[in-house]
Amino acid sequence: MPTAYLGLGSNLGDRKQNLAQALELMSQRVVMERLSSIYETEPVGYQQQPLFLNAVCCIFTELSPEQLLGLAKEIEAKLGRIPSFTNAPRPIDIDILFYDDTVIKSHDLTVPHPRLAERGFVIVPLAEIAPELVHPESGKTVRELLNDLGTIAGVHKWVELGEVMNRRQNV
Ligand code: ADP
Ligand code: MG
Repeated sequence: MPTAYLGLGSNLGDRKQNLAQALELMSQRVVMERLSSIYETEPVGYQQQPLFLNAVCCIFTELSPEQLLGLAKEIEAKLGRIPSFTNAPRPIDIDILFYDDTVIKSHDLTVPHPRLAERGFVIVPLAEIAPELVHPESGKTVRELLNDLGTIAGVHKWVELGEVMNRRQNV
């Protein structure tokens, strides 16, 4: 079965709930294989907006790349995303990062995602679950892409307040 990687981001409303709901809806239609930690990240591009929560997941799916994009858009719409501009605030953004080693450059879909190598909020979580994954165009592994980014600012593993409190109680 084809393997794909998805990037998810939310910076409006209950961000964690948005990620959880998107993953739940996604897993009704594809096999959810692996999920990264959640990271809190500073917005890139248009900066006057709230911090994002980002995560990436690995899925197995019989859906074609176009069908997978359709599903991603369906879930974005269900969770209240109004189509807007690139890098705009959104309850949920779902990007197809990789689909096997398929390369697609059509009007609606570019795979691998064209901006993934420059985005710390994608590469950091991706390196957590798939450091050896090879970018089919550059031939670089995710680990190499991470190294190429150098020092990454504004991407932090996200720990919920509840977890912090529990840890305090446990020490
Ligand atoms: P970004 O995710 O870069 O902030 P948007 O989510 O606003 O940008 O871009 C939405 C459009 O990008 C979608 O309508 C979709 O057709 C197009 N697109 C092209 N390639 C991809 C991809 N690999 N994953 C998701 N959307 C893509
Ligand atoms: Mg998107």
